[in-house]
Amino acid sequence: MKSPIQTYLEALHKELSSERGGQLASYIPELARVDAEQFGICLVTMDGVAYCVGDTGASFTIQSISKAFVYAAALADRGQEYVATKVGVEPSGDAFNSISLHPHTGAPLNPMINAGAIATTSIVAGDTPEAQWRRIEAAMAAFIGHEVSVDEAVCRSESETGHRNRAISWMLKNFNIVEGDPMAKLENYFRQCSILVNCRDLAYMAATLANNGTHPLSRVRTLPSEYVERVLGVMATCGMYDYAGSWLYEVGMPAKSGVGGGIVAVLPGRFGIGVFSPRLDEKGNSVRGIEVCKRLSRDIGLNIFSWT
Ligand code: GLN
Repeated sequence: MKSPIQTYLEALHKELSSERGGQLASYIPELARVDAEQFGICLVTMDGVAYCVGDTGASFTIQSISKAFVYAAALADRGQEYVATKVGVEPSGDAFNSISLHPHTGAPLNPMINAGAIATTSIVAGDTPEAQWRRIEAAMAAFIGHEVSVDEAVCRSESETGHRNRAISWMLKNFNIVEGDPMAKLENYFRQCSILVNCRDLAYMAATLANNGTHPLSRVRTLPSEYVERVLGVMATCGMYDYAGSWLYEVGMPAKSGVGGGIVAVLPGRFGIGVFSPRLDEKGNSVRGIEVCKRLSRDIGLNIFSWT
């Protein structure tokens, strides 16, 4: 017999398929080429069972969702004190590509905006940018539960057009937040954003955080448990950029979105959620993705602030 949760997700997917608001991201030219109709929802429980509906096997680039997981790797590698000298934890209330730096230290306000993510990527373990890339790749693979690959066309497209991110990197170099060659470090950031995932992968990544850092199927510990709540805290306040306040108010879950159309949401101790639909609102969040999470929060009581 079909589980009630599967039946519920199928009905929700059907209902929200008629939502056609939003636009594909086009500032990275290659992202404008994806099929806008794709739509998948996947929910993973703490024993690793996945409930999936729609295009949950379709690949897309992870984009900014990677920021939360690379931040986790940086905390694990360098410890909280050191990481705090490079990037803060205050919501910026600004767009994801804003140049929100601390006026004196130059540290970006948080690791979920581009400036903070570029700083974070530059400090993961590794003596060279190549070694650091291997660390990022391994960290992402542990969260996902299998090896990762990169969409080279998206990566090239982003590198060719990413002048704003380049400017941010030089600002970070100016403040000594990024050390070494800022362009080589930035290429790692472009590459991490171009990692290919599907909706199911996102749900397992979220479930790993929900499960206090241990992947529910592989049982691999991805980061020390004391850092899991730090990562979730920053996702809750900063994960949805300048929509973060409304998101916490209406949905009430730590989450992270990316301009590829993915969203991960975490209900600690219970579920990891992955949603994929590439049409975005003006803040760069998936329109259907937000709607799915609002509905899940309301219909099955996933708000972390709710009593029941
Ligand atoms: N790679 C994208 C960028 O740096 C990520 C942005 C996003 O997903 N919000 O612009």
